[in-house]
Amino acid sequence: MKIQEADAKALLVGQGLPVPGWEVARTTAEARAAAERFLRSGADRVVIKAQVLVGGRGKAGGVKLAGSADEAEAVAGQILGMEIKGIPVRKVLVAEAADIVKEFYLSAVVDRAARRILLMGSAEGGVEIEQVAVDQPEAIRRTHAHPYLGLLDHQARQFAFSMGLGAHWKTAAQIARGLVATMLAHDADLVEINPLAIIRDPGADRHGGERLVCLDAKITLDDSALARHPGLEELRDPDEEDPADREARKAAISFIKLDGTIGCMVNGAGLAMTTMDLVKRAGGEPANFLDIGGGARADKVAAAMRIILSDPKVSAILVNIFGGITRGDEVAHGLIEARRQQERDVPMVVRIVGTNAPEADVLLREARFETAGSLDEAAAKAVAASRGAVA
Ligand code: GDP
Ligand code: MN
Repeated sequence: MKIQEADAKALLVGQGLPVPGWEVARTTAEARAAAERFLRSGADRVVIKAQVLVGGRGKAGGVKLAGSADEAEAVAGQILGMEIKGIPVRKVLVAEAADIVKEFYLSAVVDRAARRILLMGSAEGGVEIEQVAVDQPEAIRRTHAHPYLGLLDHQARQFAFSMGLGAHWKTAAQIARGLVATMLAHDADLVEINPLAIIRDPGADRHGGERLVCLDAKITLDDSALARHPGLEELRDPDEEDPADREARKAAISFIKLDGTIGCMVNGAGLAMTTMDLVKRAGGEPANFLDIGGGARADKVAAAMRIILSDPKVSAILVNIFGGITRGDEVAHGLIEARRQQERDVPMVVRIVGTNAPEADVLLREARFETAGSLDEAAAKAVAASRGAVA
């Protein structure tokens, strides 16, 4: 689950990291009022930033500075009226504009192969780190945190120096450790600060009064660990959750949308992967990964069907059920009910084996469903049906 910059910053503050203060505004009037508060308490300028769950907001024109309340209102109006990568901006973050001396990159991710948290840092901050990784991989520093001891002092120090943060090594080491702490405290997959910035304190002369702060924050949380952190659920942004993802989550269905045309409904993650492979081998492209889970009842099957059909690209559906705890006849009832409710007529091929498969077969034949005995046959039929539907 991705969370907004403002919420990510709050989690960083919770771990004691230096983050300049901010406010969130949903309207130009709120943005103006927030800007007035920052300007009145001594800020020369404010920064206004789109709150959307995509990167590259700066490049897209979603990060702008303003020197007065009027300007802040106008700039907030521009940003609140735009779409970034197809997502309408519904809220902005307002903060005192930082006087940036230099931008760095710092992140923590789960390194599955090493089974540790990996810290990555670079003096090439503020830009797209993916490009840095391609063009000059040596510019990215890496170090692993120890699973029990965390990031050791000497590691943090060495890391800070290698990033060119020598003069700020104490804060840099504290921030690096704070990233690891944030990962552990909330079961995050990623904590990214880009830019981590050296900023000049307001009123300071050219050389004095510099500080290291987190100017941007991006955190993704491990969905599978959310049950352990009930408080984090409220950070889910309903403005940006895809309706299909929302329905899948509510029905406890594992669903990942893909780009193809063959909707897949399967029970079990491994079987779902195999089904996708066989669709590809038969010359088709899966429209999704969908696992209805073990013991699914008719209503869950109907929900899965609605989710699959909500994708307009789906031109055929392949249902592949291996009955164990899940009963074949229960799934068949669900499919029949789902087809009754269904608004769009899409050809469907059903393969059900295992528990109560003969009963399922009788029900499906009576309801005139297209069935298949083997998975190869089912995949071939689904691909053929999707071509027929397209032609
Ligand atoms: P992103 O483009 O979505 O990653 O958004 P960021 O928050 O990283 O902002 C993009 C860029 O805008 C940063 O790399 C900075 O160069 C600039 N920026 C962000 N905040 C400030 C600020 O307070 N002052 C100044 N001068 N520039 C800022
Ligand atoms: Mn950024």
